[in-house]
Amino acid sequence: MAEEKKPKKERVKKKYPMPEQPPEERIHNFNEVPIGQTEDVIKKEAQRCLQCKPSEKRKLCYDGCPVGIDIPAFIKKIQEDDLEGAIGIIKRYNNLPAVCGRVCPYENQCEGNCVVGKIKDSEPVAIGRMERFLADWERARGVKAPELPPRKDKKVAVVGSGPAGLTVAADLAKKGYQVTLFEALHSPGGVLVYGIPEFRLPKAIVRAEVSYIETLGVKLVTDAVVGKSISMQELSEQNDAIFVATGAGLPKWMNIPGENLNGILSANEFLTRANLMKSYMFPDADTPNRIGKKVATIGGGNVAMDCARTSLRLGAEESWIIYRRTETELPARIEEVHHAMQEGVKFQFLTAPVKYEGDETGYVKKMECCRMKLGEPDASGRRRPLVCPGENFELDVDTVLIAIGQSPNPIVPQTTPEIKTTKWGTIVVDDWQRTSMKGVFAAGDIATGDATVILAMGGGKRAAEAMDRYLSENEDWPAPETWEQ
Ligand code: FAD
Ligand code: SF4
Ligand code: SF4
Repeated sequence: MAEEKKPKKERVKKKYPMPEQPPEERIHNFNEVPIGQTEDVIKKEAQRCLQCKPSEKRKLCYDGCPVGIDIPAFIKKIQEDDLEGAIGIIKRYNNLPAVCGRVCPYENQCEGNCVVGKIKDSEPVAIGRMERFLADWERARGVKAPELPPRKDKKVAVVGSGPAGLTVAADLAKKGYQVTLFEALHSPGGVLVYGIPEFRLPKAIVRAEVSYIETLGVKLVTDAVVGKSISMQELSEQNDAIFVATGAGLPKWMNIPGENLNGILSANEFLTRANLMKSYMFPDADTPNRIGKKVATIGGGNVAMDCARTSLRLGAEESWIIYRRTETELPARIEEVHHAMQEGVKFQFLTAPVKYEGDETGYVKKMECCRMKLGEPDASGRRRPLVCPGENFELDVDTVLIAIGQSPNPIVPQTTPEIKTTKWGTIVVDDWQRTSMKGVFAAGDIATGDATVILAMGGGKRAAEAMDRYLSENEDWPAPETWEQ
């Protein structure tokens, strides 16, 4: 008798949806927008993974992860109902999984390489959401610190507690080094606490991941501005190696007429007031954040989306994004643009401000804009915006937020002439993240210019590996040319 054919299992083409707060509700609060998925849904999502075998011909999910998570292995553990095993695999590579599961631009990283996403009409496996779920699942049960090796007698100073600094601090502490982390602000986390809003990345989650790193034995010193309250020279006398990850927090301006009017703020100031100083809780918190009725945010990245969405939550009636290219070139994460649109942020593409006009009290009331068109691609590969002469127009505004990028924080390089910088102020590093000062390594935005959380962490991983090699092999490890001079 012919064997009965098993019915073919229907392949699920799309990601299982993430429940979210409805837009009309969430623009009145600062609670997280995506609510999170259930264990059941995550297990079904894991079944979408094909468990691809390594191949030289094609890139796979893990090739797109700068910290090198063994993605097929952790998904296999979920398929086998072993959630503890799954988060254990992630944590071998990534010390901040709850952060990455929320803000990593996975569509351009791991998920961008996922084989399932290349199949017609299919979406990639939701790797980021699984990572988020597992990190939250573990936190709810109480995170356990891993077993640590015996303490080494070598000391390391880490300057800056953003994702790059936290990565190096954790990786070196796990190897037994004595690590002290210096942070200029009163709260650790870098942009994760002062930049990215609560509704995208709750501060309690950052605090929990920082606490985990402290349980590894990392000593945290806040309110310590290296280069002011303690010099790099002093740090190098007290430590065997230093890692610099001071980020890019210096706002860029357009330098156009009227830019110093009241009501025109850098994104950095606006978001720091909202996040770190909780202006949205004023008067219960000390810091107010003046917000007008018509807010224009200049720029099209994650920072711009955060400003526009925060403005709505603080009571703006209209919140505009003014961007000089088109929707296709927006550098913000797709999800952030989608959420901003859902919440009623309006987009004025192919537009750039040329000057601002104030009222009799010195507050901005109007902005003159020029229309743009797209020319040939520039060095970044994106089409260059060109001004359309004679097509200027005016917009009524009472608050303008400038979100056109940040420059590297200058204090450490300015006070440490041994550290070479580029003309943009970023610290020069080699492939091992070594700077021109012996024993000093750097990564993250201070070395790359403003980039992403996961690229900062990837740089941190490389630096931690190099620092371990430097500290254990020291003189035997060939120094960069500049160290030999
Ligand atoms: P940072 O996070 O900038 O941390 C540097 C730390 O060093 C800060 O805490 C600073 O106070 C401290 N410091 C500076 N100088 C000194 C000193 N002299 N002494 C001691 N400490 C010092 N990326 C994403 O991947 N996804 C997103 O959704 C996203 N959204 C963003 C939204 C906003 C509003 C912003 C501003 C950035 C966003 N980014 C996002 C970019 C990302 O946050 C950064 O690329 C990343 O945080 C860089 O990490 P870092 O460790 O190099 O520096
Ligand atoms: Fe993907 Fe980012 Fe997680 Fe790596 S850290 S697996 S790139 S979401
Ligand atoms: Fe699974 Fe996609 Fe990675 Fe293949 S590429 S192992 S389908 S996550």
